[in-house]
Amino acid sequence: MKDNKKLQKTFEIIDGRGYKHYNEIKGIYKFELFTLEVVHVQRDPFAGPSLIRILMDDVTFPKDLLSNHGRRIAVGDYIGCEFNKSIQKHVHGRTGSGKSGILLIDNGGPEILERTSVIINESSLEIRFSVGLPAKGRRILGKQARELFMKVIPNIVIESCIYQNIDAHDLRRHVFINEDSDYIRNEMKKRGMVAFIRNGSVLPRRSGTSDEPLKGAVKFKSPESLLVSVNTPNHGTVTGMGIPEGVTLIVGGGYHGKSTLLNAIELGIYNHRYGDGREMVVTDDGAVKIRAEDGRKIENVDISSFIHNPPMEKNTCKFSSENASGSTSQAANIIEAIEVGSKLLLFDEDTSATNFMIRDERMQKLVATEKEPITPFIDRVKELYTDHGVSTILVMGGSGDYFEAADTVIMMDNYVPYNVTERAMQIKIEIPINRKTEIKTRFGYQKRHPIKGSIKSMKGRKLKLDSRGKTQVLLGRDVIDLSQVEQLADSSQTRAISYALHYAADYFMDGKVSMEELMKQVEQALDNDGLDVLAPAGKKYPNNLSRPRTFEIAAALNRLRTFKTN
Ligand code: ADP
Ligand code: MG
Repeated sequence: MKDNKKLQKTFEIIDGRGYKHYNEIKGIYKFELFTLEVVHVQRDPFAGPSLIRILMDDVTFPKDLLSNHGRRIAVGDYIGCEFNKSIQKHVHGRTGSGKSGILLIDNGGPEILERTSVIINESSLEIRFSVGLPAKGRRILGKQARELFMKVIPNIVIESCIYQNIDAHDLRRHVFINEDSDYIRNEMKKRGMVAFIRNGSVLPRRSGTSDEPLKGAVKFKSPESLLVSVNTPNHGTVTGMGIPEGVTLIVGGGYHGKSTLLNAIELGIYNHRYGDGREMVVTDDGAVKIRAEDGRKIENVDISSFIHNPPMEKNTCKFSSENASGSTSQAANIIEAIEVGSKLLLFDEDTSATNFMIRDERMQKLVATEKEPITPFIDRVKELYTDHGVSTILVMGGSGDYFEAADTVIMMDNYVPYNVTERAMQIKIEIPINRKTEIKTRFGYQKRHPIKGSIKSMKGRKLKLDSRGKTQVLLGRDVIDLSQVEQLADSSQTRAISYALHYAADYFMDGKVSMEELMKQVEQALDNDGLDVLAPAGKKYPNNLSRPRTFEIAAALNRLRTFKTN
């Protein structure tokens, strides 16, 4: 380890020289309150910025806020936000060519996620962030670099990483919201519920592309009959609507807030920061949004429970397609989710294939069951719960046929939910329907075993693991499209998926381990060793990964062009 004076000196020496001389700053330096490591130096001012680590052994945060994994994630998330705010305060845009002078820390949106940008425990705090080393053209701007490293960065660290300098009340609130959200999720499981929507929540967003809560929105209020209260460790009694296991319909007229409620449920797999509006709106962590996704690739999926004997006699027990239809893609999405352990499927009629969801009495009369390859979801939904413990929440304003299968019916009326289950059951008797169920076989599927050669992470002679935005995984020469995988929160999760696929191929994929087992292994490794376990040799100290669920890792694998299974 070198003294920081040495770093200062180096900046003076390399000032005005060619950019490659920045390589001379690589190393570990001792500062008054922390250690700084220059891990990676960018090739030129336009390349991906350089990677810096800050290490502090003297953790000033109270031990009680770091006493368990959940609390450490929340504190880390908070520090990341503070660090980012401090960057905004001290750094005002570029100071030279390319990325000169910019500082970036990965700290995401309103979801609280485990990240590699801040790693904290009772005895150490580590921050990883990137810096655009300043230059004019290819000439090093040494004075600017010195200012950045000797003044700006230390100031940011002091402001955001020392407990005495941050708002203790705000931090505690953040940690406790995270903890109580986890608590409620766990409590729901114990009580046989799959989702909880806190009274007073603000569910709608300002726009389709915004994470901000809609101003002046109608606050969520549970109907009396679905109201549950949870005695939380930090917020006392919290009340809201509990959605029980089984089959739940969300009905109501157009524009009354059905999809908004479902979207909040989809993202309730994550905990939300204070001010988001969806704090303590929580969903079973095994919830998977299912939609039609025509055009997607399907590899060897057994969709025979939903589609059998189609014309051209494709084998639907081992169904593959480079360009799936609406109904086959929706069937595959269900099987793939259940294959890796989903216990809650979420559907919105807006994004479902009608012929997959329903076939009514009149259509059954006109088109004989024998002539229809699709077993509509309505004929499987009850069985999935009773025989396999897989619940469904379904937005369905268009067909009352689903009353046959429903356990709970919630009506949205001007953004207010009503429990209309009894009324729906009465209507079922008043207006009986004679549609036949179309199942001849029990629900089931064959397991798949991914082949190692599926993953090709090299691009030329370089390992390529990255993301482009939230929706594209970059893996070797491949781009995996996740634009229809709706429960990703952030692009650093997408990047982590790329790492996870490479990791899974390296360690566990051998054509014998099942998809389910493979994902369990990855989950186990992440639980035991954190996100850093995914970093391959040569990509040590990743600074912009956040933890994805195994459902989304599996979703990416399932959509990979080169994916092959036994
Ligand atoms: P549906 O799926 O029933 O057709 P949406 O959920 O798409 O309806 O909502 C319709 C519109 O109402 C959206 O623009 C949404 O932002 C808005 N909205 C939803 N919930 C609320 C609310 N609680 N308060 C105010 N506006 C809302
Ligand atoms: Mg809708």
